[in-house]
Amino acid sequence: MTVARPTGFCFGVERAIRMAKQGKKKYGRVYTLGELVHNPLVLEELEREGIRAVRDVRRAGDGALVIRAHGCPPGVLNRCQEFGIRTIDATCPYVHKVQSVARRLKEQGYEIVVVGERNHPEVKGILGHSGRAGRVYTPRMRLKGAKVGVVAQTTMSAERFREAVAKLSRFRYTELRAFDTTCKEVTARQEAAARLAQKAELVIVVGGRNSANTSRLAEIVRAAGKELAYVERASELPYCALSRRTRIGVVAGSSTPAWVVREVVDFARNPVKEDRK
Ligand code: SF4
Repeated sequence: MTVARPTGFCFGVERAIRMAKQGKKKYGRVYTLGELVHNPLVLEELEREGIRAVRDVRRAGDGALVIRAHGCPPGVLNRCQEFGIRTIDATCPYVHKVQSVARRLKEQGYEIVVVGERNHPEVKGILGHSGRAGRVYTPRMRLKGAKVGVVAQTTMSAERFREAVAKLSRFRYTELRAFDTTCKEVTARQEAAARLAQKAELVIVVGGRNSANTSRLAEIVRAAGKELAYVERASELPYCALSRRTRIGVVAGSSTPAWVVREVVDFARNPVKEDRK
């Protein structure tokens, strides 16, 4: 069995969780604006420690509100200030960088194209920093601006970003500037998933089903035509598939705790039938 590296939380997720826990010790009551990470097991653990997700900043009351690693539009921070809500900004520094590139492009009069998922909170945050100049990339989009700046959601694959830039460069502009803001941590996991998919008969992808970066790993395995088991924890592993396969690979999303990966690897090495599929 091969376990892809890197594994466990990425730097940005680990930092956000640490900041939320430190905030709890310091302020007593801490809330996160939306789910801190897209992993139900991590959310359960945080809830046990009294750190809950809220949708409205006013729910934080006199506690503290954690801005998650995905970041948020500037309007959210303004609202917090307006209501006197204390904030703990756990936006990943790599996401901060995309936001600041977007702000600079806006100030310099560029039309901004974000290559990413329209409904992902990180993309909503980047669009917020782009103001009226920002749009989400679609293959059929038509641009009118003379100057265009392109940025990527950090969890986008570098390949998709390059494809988008290549399509956009077919239009005539005075200037097209592309900023590859994809996260190298995410790229490393995607490359590891692609390598594993070449060698393994079955690839186990471990992570939250609503996690963008974990879903992307699953897509890579599917695209390689390999058997895929996408699980959030070991109890979901398919016993039959495991017992039939010898070349098994394991890869995990950046919001998947290391202990879950260990649990999955232990079970995959010694599958026990019990009530499994
Ligand atoms: S995946 Fe990269 S950008 Fe996203 S939180 Fe982790 S380190 Fe930051």
